[in-house]
Amino acid sequence: MINGSKMWITNSPSADFICLLANTSDDKPHINKSLIMVPMNTPGISVSPPLEKLGMHSSETAQVFFDEVRIPQRNRIGHEGAGFMMQMLQFQEERLFGAANMIKGLEHCIDSTIAYCKERRTFGKALIDNQVIHFRLAELSTEIECLRALVYQATEQYIKGQDVTRLASMAKLKAGRLGRDVSDSCLQYWGGMGFMWDNPVARAYRDVRLVSIGGGADEIMLGIICKLMGTLPGKKS
Ligand SMILES: Cc1cc2nc3c(=O)[nH]c(=O)nc-3n(C[C@H](O)[C@H](O)[C@H](O)COP(=O)(O)OP(=O)(O)OC[C@H]3O[C@@H](n4cnc5c(N)ncnc54)[C@H](O)[C@@H]3O)c2cc1C
Repeated sequence: MINGSKMWITNSPSADFICLLANTSDDKPHINKSLIMVPMNTPGISVSPPLEKLGMHSSETAQVFFDEVRIPQRNRIGHEGAGFMMQMLQFQEERLFGAANMIKGLEHCIDSTIAYCKERRTFGKALIDNQVIHFRLAELSTEIECLRALVYQATEQYIKGQDVTRLASMAKLKAGRLGRDVSDSCLQYWGGMGFMWDNPVARAYRDVRLVSIGGGADEIMLGIICKLMGTLPGKKS
């Protein structure tokens, strides 16, 4: 029997099924959870209207409510109590994808900003001819290449079947922070145009903010990296 609610579930208003991580015993937190395939037309499930978000408007997000929902055991994925472990493995893929998914969008922010700054003239010269602007864009491009190298390295190891927890956490952390840096700097160079709703860089500014929060916030990534470095208080590597 499932009771409770899940906040902010991506695409839930249009989902036929969800993959739910639910407590299925009173055991310790890492062995009391199971992954369950839940059909969304099961009696007792309801979904809130789509929530109004800062960004990511091409994907609906809503709250899902469970009121005495019964799901047959055959819908469980894997063994009972193995859900937490499977979810932790899935997170590596989700975080690696999250980092890889950022690269092209950030390059596009820079490319469109260069194009705009070549066209826009202030004080008798193109904006791009200000060293502070072309140096900053060069620096951000360099950072994007570093992110790409990290993503490639982690992906190669993942394909070989190695544990990429550390590299995937680093890539997700870096992607979130770099996304904020790139979109903020680029928006600045578009001036008032950058503050307009329809501007693609303004959209990137709103959308990429989620990367430092969703799928585990930056601080959670830092915690994982510290754990693997053996620097968490009271923990040994
Ligand atoms: C648009 C959107 C879509 C989402 N879709 C899904 C989905 O489909 N499925 C799903 O399961 N979840 C989904 N989520 C939830 C998302 O995974 C969580 O919002 C995210 O993991 C952060 O958890 P929280 O919101 O509970 O923040 P909290 O845990 O309340 O943390 C708030 C902030 O506190 C800080 N913090 C937290 N813990 C620590 C710590 N240990 N040390 C230092 N600082 C800390 C961080 O800055 C963090 O951002 C979605 C969220 C959003 C906004």
